[in-house]
Amino acid sequence: MFRTRQAPSPTGYLHIGTARTVLFTKLLAKINNGIFYLRIEDTDRSRLQQDTVKVLLRALDKIGLNADEGVTLNINGEKDGFYGIYQEGRFGPYIQSERKEIYHTHAQKLIDKRLAYWNYLSADEKTEIQELKNILKQPIDYFKICKEKYGEEKMFISVSEGLSSEQKPLLMYRIKREQKIICPDLLLGKTEFDLNLEEDFGIMKSDGFPSYHLAHLVDDKLMETSLVVRGQEWYSSLPKHITMFKDYWESCPDYIHLPSILAETGNKKMSKRDGNVNLQDYLDKGYLPEAILNYIAFLGWNPGTEKELYLDRIDFQDITQPKRLEKLLQNISVDFNIDRLSKSPARFNTEKLNWFNKQYINYLSIFEFDKISSSELNSLVKDTNQLQYFLSVKLDQNRAILTTQVGVESNSVLRWEKPGTDILIWKNSSTQDIKINLDSSLQFITNKWGEALFLRERLEKIFSQTQLDKSNEVKFNESLQELNLFWETSFKNWILDNSFQTGNILWPLRVSLSGQKKSPSPFELISILDIQEIKKRINEVIESL
Ligand code: GLU
Repeated sequence: MFRTRQAPSPTGYLHIGTARTVLFTKLLAKINNGIFYLRIEDTDRSRLQQDTVKVLLRALDKIGLNADEGVTLNINGEKDGFYGIYQEGRFGPYIQSERKEIYHTHAQKLIDKRLAYWNYLSADEKTEIQELKNILKQPIDYFKICKEKYGEEKMFISVSEGLSSEQKPLLMYRIKREQKIICPDLLLGKTEFDLNLEEDFGIMKSDGFPSYHLAHLVDDKLMETSLVVRGQEWYSSLPKHITMFKDYWESCPDYIHLPSILAETGNKKMSKRDGNVNLQDYLDKGYLPEAILNYIAFLGWNPGTEKELYLDRIDFQDITQPKRLEKLLQNISVDFNIDRLSKSPARFNTEKLNWFNKQYINYLSIFEFDKISSSELNSLVKDTNQLQYFLSVKLDQNRAILTTQVGVESNSVLRWEKPGTDILIWKNSSTQDIKINLDSSLQFITNKWGEALFLRERLEKIFSQTQLDKSNEVKFNESLQELNLFWETSFKNWILDNSFQTGNILWPLRVSLSGQKKSPSPFELISILDIQEIKKRINEVIESL
């Protein structure tokens, strides 16, 4: 059975780069019909905080990156007292701080096999040796130093003796040098490493917690990991890990070291310091989970075609969350393979993420957009005139890059305020000209109103059907466009026939109807407002001039 995993440290938030790595791991599990499990690497005791794992799991859940096994929010699993989460699967516990005894058992076996030894050097002694190394430019042979200083007997005492020793020794892994090894990586290919250049390294501190190296050796074997996907910062440890696995278990898992994600500017890895890396912040800002997931798939991968959007408009009508995120993953997995992963770092690009977000916001039904954006638009209007309310929400939706950008456009329909004269003036026209032009525009709208009535009534009818069945939304959009187009064409012909100046007519009309300097077009506004409201707005403006 193909098994792969992620082992994040609970930092209290989900880093967008971790989310990308989890996504690739999950996709690899999917295309290999395998299992993706989640383990928590919390052996750094200073970091142990209760809410951190929950926050991580919740963020993963929100963008559809749940694991098949391991730590979970699923209450059917076994409850974990400390973190308040659950664990599922037969290889548990999946939280490393709860696996101490398991690490001790294997540490003992490593000592028995003479693959690990206790190092009693004090911090000062270590610094001295380090200084010497800088001069000699040769790797330090800790085993030799310890042997000369303490003798083998003391170096191979048991785990329990070592941990209770007052000298607080460090358990070290003993690298057998004098050889070169080939380290394969499924993405980067094979590289030869010279073990003569490697030093022995710590695998268990005196607090009894394992270092990453030991936890990796034990967990990834016992949990039957076939493939380890991790960041490229681990690549230099690969000769250590392959050596350990081969020495102790005789075989090792496959590895993929993913290139990092670069910050938007500069050549540094994307980090907390130079930008936003917390996935939750993106969700709070108004990015849709679908957009984030789709975008991060392209950070280090591409399908080799022009395809970018892995969901269609229809997916937003037919399916709801979390099924939609599952569909997105399913669609990407069809094109996903290791050969199309990039070996060089990807650069984070907010503009591209915005593009994905805008596309998917546009695919949402107006009802869902209204719900997600939780716009505090005029609820009174919502109750009394549903169509008008949703049409103005639609104005926001058409232009929004983020789901939080609401009210900007719809305000011109729902919260009209008489505009100041300064913004009504088009170029150097006088207030008298504006009055005359507004007056004739209103006259024109009133005369044409009867002709538009059929289109308005049809729009209303389709809207009530759409409320019942979202799949009518395409028809609804078309019908709205037809109404907009009717007003646009009528106005343009009228302007042409009378040799008016377009700006003289349309600018004051739009500003009067919206009350704002920037707003939707006058045609969109006329399509949404009713004739009484149009008359009221224009007349109020005329009177004030
Ligand atoms: N905690 C490590 C990390 O997040 C795990 C690396 C690994 O997957 O082995 O980088």
